[in-house]
Amino acid sequence: MKAILFHIHGGPEVLKYSEFPTPEPGDGQVLVKLEAAALNRVDIWTRIGWPGIKLEYPHIPGADGAGIVVGLGGCVSDWTIGNRVVLNANLSCGRCPACVAGQDNRCREWHLLGETVRGTYAEYVAVPATNLYPIPEGFDPNQAAAAALVFHTAWHSLVTRGELKPGEYVLVVGASGGVNTASIQIARLAGAKVIVVGSNSKKLELAESLGAEYLLDRSKDENWPKLVYNITGKRGVDVVVDNVGTTFPASFRSLAKGGRILTVGNSGGPKFEIDNRFIFGKHLSIIGSSMGTRAEFATVMDLVFAGKLIPVMDRVYPLIEARSAQEQLEKGEQLGKITLTVG
Ligand code: ZN
Repeated sequence: MKAILFHIHGGPEVLKYSEFPTPEPGDGQVLVKLEAAALNRVDIWTRIGWPGIKLEYPHIPGADGAGIVVGLGGCVSDWTIGNRVVLNANLSCGRCPACVAGQDNRCREWHLLGETVRGTYAEYVAVPATNLYPIPEGFDPNQAAAAALVFHTAWHSLVTRGELKPGEYVLVVGASGGVNTASIQIARLAGAKVIVVGSNSKKLELAESLGAEYLLDRSKDENWPKLVYNITGKRGVDVVVDNVGTTFPASFRSLAKGGRILTVGNSGGPKFEIDNRFIFGKHLSIIGSSMGTRAEFATVMDLVFAGKLIPVMDRVYPLIEARSAQEQLEKGEQLGKITLTVG
């Protein structure tokens, strides 16, 4: 099969479009012929690498994908050849206490497809049958792939971990990325009032089109916690969605007493200084999470297929141009998701 591989960590130039043996589905696995893959920031972190990362080279990036079932391993009874499917990138053991309790994203042996296991920038991928979800007839595979990881992650963070309630004020830090555009829509669906702080008017127009009611342009006024205080009648917001990290100090200032800060990532870098006095003085909770559970994947994809949550699509590249696609993602100027069409 054709795939995008890398043999060493580095810049986008390490990505090569090459031949690689088509995987064989093992027991409990299904072989999927991919029609689409979607890019995520984790693809770039994995390509660059971090201390202690251990990959079997060559590595194939990509967590998100959608395609057609073309092969069945042993003991697979709930799928048939020709089924159209979207992939849940959370690989879990199914046996440990977390998995048995339905918290499979906390699995003891958890892996993410495309991060530590070869992923979806390829014509074929073999995954556990339990990681597939059916796509309805006529639904665009690029949209299905684009929706999966970001809506799944945002749902687990806002609804399950964040316990977002109708009428609460939510501040989303960042207007245009995949998880943020998903978070804006999920917060609106939950009946929350959404404030978005973004870096330019174009990104904020997108946030507004997704249902954000208050738009703060930080290129015009850096002091967004003050603007948040004015909007909320000097109270502050109940919840901040902050996946930048380095913005935590400003997010703390934006929160009401007893507020929650939700985080699933750190696009601004992993290390930053925080003032602990805000945390105890304002009774704040910092709530972290990663990805979502299998049950939540079904809930979220059903809402996507019903048109209640809509992935924002920026640009589609052919698989062979994955390097250009990652270069665009690294610039951070995209509005929504970047995807790859396969085959
Ligand atoms: Zn497990």
